[in-house]
Amino acid sequence: MDFSSIHEFKEAILEHSILNGRQIVFRPNDRVRARAKCNQKFGHVIFCSKVGRSEIYKIKTCRPKHHCGKVFKNKNASSEWVAMLSAEKLRSNNDIKLTQIMDDVIFRYGIAISLVVAWKLDDC
Ligand SMILES: [Zn+2]
Repeated sequence: MDFSSIHEFKEAILEHSILNGRQIVFRPNDRVRARAKCNQKFGHVIFCSKVGRSEIYKIKTCRPKHHCGKVFKNKNASSEWVAMLSAEKLRSNNDIKLTQIMDDVIFRYGIAISLVVAWKLDDC
C-alpha cells in the first residue's frame, strides 16, 4: 500500500486502531518514517518510510496482529480526530453541548472521550 506522506499513513493507522479499540504509539516519528507500535510490549508493528528519492511512502514491516485487549478510553482519540469526525455536526449546530458530542462518539464509534477532549474542540 502506498501513501503520499507520513501524515496520510498516520491518519489511516490512527483511524483503524481507534475504530478497532487499540491504542498505538508512533516511534520513530519524523518526516520520512514512522513506526506504529502497539501500546503493549509485543505484537502489532507497522513501519512505513519513504522509498528512495521518490515521493512515495510504503509499508515495509507489517505485523498486524494484536496480543492485547481492546481499550475503551483510547488516548489516540484526540480532539483533532473527534473534530474531523464531528465537523459537519459542529457546523450545522452552534448550540451543541459537549455531552452531546461525547455521547455521539460513544454511539457511533464505541469510544469514550474525556470532557477535556470535547472541550478542546473549540480550539480546532
Ligand atoms: Zn495491541
